[in-house]
Amino acid sequence: MRTCQAIVVGLGGMGGAVCAHLARRGVDVVGLEQFDLAHDRGSSHGETRIIRKAYFEHPDYVPLLHRAYPMWDELSREMGVELFVRCGLLLAGNPHKALIAGARRSAIEHDLDIPAVPRDEWERRFGGFAPDEEMELLFEGDAGFLHVERCVMAHADLARRLGATLVLNTTVRSWVANAEGATVYTDGESYRAPLLFLCAGPWTGPLVRELGLPLTVKRKVQLWLRTRSRWHGAEHHCPVFIAQTEAGYFYGFPSLDGTSMKIAEHTGGECVPDPSRVDRDLSRADVERVAEFASAFLPGVQSDVLRHAVCLYTLTPDEHFILDRHPRHDNVFIAAGFSGHGFKFAPVVGAVLAEMALEGRTDAPIGFLGLQRFDPGR
Ligand SMILES: Cc1cc2nc3c(=O)[nH]c(=O)nc-3n(C[C@H](O)[C@H](O)[C@H](O)COP(=O)(O)OP(=O)(O)OC[C@H]3O[C@@H](n4cnc5c(N)ncnc54)[C@H](O)[C@@H]3O)c2cc1C
Repeated sequence: MRTCQAIVVGLGGMGGAVCAHLARRGVDVVGLEQFDLAHDRGSSHGETRIIRKAYFEHPDYVPLLHRAYPMWDELSREMGVELFVRCGLLLAGNPHKALIAGARRSAIEHDLDIPAVPRDEWERRFGGFAPDEEMELLFEGDAGFLHVERCVMAHADLARRLGATLVLNTTVRSWVANAEGATVYTDGESYRAPLLFLCAGPWTGPLVRELGLPLTVKRKVQLWLRTRSRWHGAEHHCPVFIAQTEAGYFYGFPSLDGTSMKIAEHTGGECVPDPSRVDRDLSRADVERVAEFASAFLPGVQSDVLRHAVCLYTLTPDEHFILDRHPRHDNVFIAAGFSGHGFKFAPVVGAVLAEMALEGRTDAPIGFLGLQRFDPGR
């Protein structure tokens, strides 16, 4: 049996960050990952993730984002790699519906600057977009995107540099815990530590079966559609965007290769009973709704798919995260249910879990992300 001071299960978006923050505080941490680092079978792949502050989902996320922005910048500096591109974010939707109304609410509550863009100005500045007449546009200037695989690697590399041991291609089959600590079992080895962090993304449900968490895993497709518009190029200051239409929420990124734009639907998606058995082929149904949205909203984007990636959301019923202690084991922590919008928070998740575990408390306002809202047998 290998002993250490902390074990982290899962080295995707969150687990790598947890390892880095524990190692930074001098903790002897072992991270266990069933695949390679920055693999394409979980939730943290596909080139880019949106990062933004005027959080339409809930204003309580904003203080966590104030903390996340400089942490991404610091990680980028420390590892010497560009992670965060501040190209701005365009929000488009009916002003009375959740996207625009929610972003406004967060902006007012937290004094964020997200000006409305008048129609004549948007035609001049954002020629790559053709919003409906009744849509309102808001622009968040210091938002943008993260290079997702680079971020995963940066946290993992930093963790290793600070002394963490990362064990790859090793699946955790089970774990037990008591007041002294936790033991984790893989196929050929066991690990024991006073602290355990479960950051298993779409595989979290079976690892904490005793809690019966209401997690739903969904198959989500990211499409790179051909664009013929120069307006969609990063060099023409194309922002990331989120649009709420009658059909749902759609989002996309500036073209990074000059020929394609990554576009996807946030709403919808098929439920996946087993995250290890996911259909990764592209079907016509995967393309139809996004192509229809693009043909109306993104002049110059065509329906031919140059590339695609299938990714997984792990949704809670209220689509807010789970960031808490295990209700039956004080020394076991759970970071899960990131509901398709968690990546931007990864360094904060790492820091907050390290604080909770090592100091017994955190100042971060994470009460609304607690497990008690699901009453998991407390
Ligand atoms: C298509 C798509 C678009 C998204 N867009 C955005 C966005 O624009 N902005 C944003 O902020 N967020 C976005 N998200 C959400 C964000 O990417 C996720 O919330 C985040 O990546 C979740 O990270 P995670 O660490 O929980 O999961 P993962 O990154 O999947 O990590 C879990 C890891 O645990 C490992 N693991 C699981 N079980 C075991 C086991 N038993 N033993 C060993 N290892 C194990 C897995 O292999 C995996 O590597 C998006 C997600 C998707 C799918």
